[in-house]
Amino acid sequence: IMDGPSTPSLLLLQAYIDGAFVGEPTVDVTDPATGELVGRVPDLGAAEAVRAVEAAHRAFKPWAARTAKERSTVLRRWFDLIIANKDELALIMTREQGKPLAEAKGEIDYAASFVEFYAEEAKRISGDTLPSHRADARIMVLRQPAGVVAAITPWNFPAAMITRKCAPALAAGCTFVVKPAMETPLTALALARLAAEAGLPDGVFNVVTGEDAQAIGEVFTSHPAVRIVSFTGSTEIGKLLMRQCASGVKRVALELGGNAPFIVFDDADLDAAVEGAMVSKYRNMGQTCVCANRIYVQSGVHDAFVEKLVTAVGLLKVGRGTEEGVTQGPLIAMDAIEKVERHVADATSKGAQVLLGGKRHALGGGFFEPTVISGVTQDMAVAREETFGPVAPIFRFDTEDEVVGYANDTEFGLAAYFYARDVGRIFRVAEALEYGMVGINSGLISTELAPFGGVKESGHGREGSQRGVDEFVDIKYLLVAGL
Ligand code: ADP
Repeated sequence: IMDGPSTPSLLLLQAYIDGAFVGEPTVDVTDPATGELVGRVPDLGAAEAVRAVEAAHRAFKPWAARTAKERSTVLRRWFDLIIANKDELALIMTREQGKPLAEAKGEIDYAASFVEFYAEEAKRISGDTLPSHRADARIMVLRQPAGVVAAITPWNFPAAMITRKCAPALAAGCTFVVKPAMETPLTALALARLAAEAGLPDGVFNVVTGEDAQAIGEVFTSHPAVRIVSFTGSTEIGKLLMRQCASGVKRVALELGGNAPFIVFDDADLDAAVEGAMVSKYRNMGQTCVCANRIYVQSGVHDAFVEKLVTAVGLLKVGRGTEEGVTQGPLIAMDAIEKVERHVADATSKGAQVLLGGKRHALGGGFFEPTVISGVTQDMAVAREETFGPVAPIFRFDTEDEVVGYANDTEFGLAAYFYARDVGRIFRVAEALEYGMVGINSGLISTELAPFGGVKESGHGREGSQRGVDEFVDIKYLLVAGL
């Protein structure tokens, strides 16, 4: 367990239900860089999930009855506390997740930005008055909080995947229960402590830790008090939760896997494209659902781009996230390493060349060498599956139509990126890509100000921006007649 003079006071080892830290810490949370114990959390199951949902249900009406400004004030205080405790939160995150400390701090800023944005937005969740079809009547449309929201979140963004869901939910007047990934529950619990300190009433925000995700997920998808299930994670589990939600006709918001194409056209600014590819591909060691998964480069600039990319990737520094200057931490677990190895082996067996890296790093454990492979084609596993690791596979293409076809040839539709200067091409390609988000001349698209989400099997629903509230409100139409 983290100890010594630098032990963060936000390191909490119990789940948070109905305003109290509860449960016996029994499940190890380990540092993926070293295997060291970072902390332990309780192994709660269905019974405690029910208790959390019922606490959230009891807390719902009083929370919804507060004025928007009161909810806003509490959220704003939570934002201030998250920022004030950024260093501690980031350290906890790096220890349990592995990402470099600078990236962890960046994630805390990003996570906090949703709390700030929806603290502001709380006061603007307004309805409509519409022209009436009758002279003696008026039409009003209310946007009311839907009720209890149950969320299940992944390990790659231990803070932001929670706040992106709960901030709009709480702003709207909903209450919230989350089951964080068991690789990274400590960041969630630290956020809960700050939520309590900010004045979120008991039961409004709950964190249930437990290894039996299936049992907790069954409660979330079947308990009659839950109105919305919001999930970020694999497409497989997303589909399962959607099926489970069908019997109670619960609303589901799903942020699932991606298979992002990153296209570099002949007219691109190559240095900018390399910079964009670096941040899109290697951020969080390639473990984000919007990471470039397939890099398509037009023939005229192919060799120049590859050379510049290899140079840039060669400068990445692999090591423990807490070490100064490190840009690449470990992958989250050994099965992640095995998947990356499988993708590299499959590509090389079908004719691709490894230009850099390609194997486990000398540091051992979950470390993998930042890798670039060229000569990649559509028949290889890297073209079809999300790699979720630090491998940049380069495909060569000739025409715009050809590459748009390749880009859309996937069941996923989360993020896509392309670099071009020709304005006609920019609009043609942007409109032709079957994706929920398109970064044009940028490898980084995430911001609380924009709607994040996918199409096709990458899910539905949007998080962030004014639209992020839509998931959590019910539309009610009033016909006021007899006037
Ligand atoms: P990842 O590859 O990111 O681990 P998962 O979809 O398996 O993707 O995990 C995302 C979240 O879903 C985690 O919090 C995990 O515990 C949870 N989860 C996994 N299986 C289930 C399940 N059967 N029901 C509910 N939640 C689940």
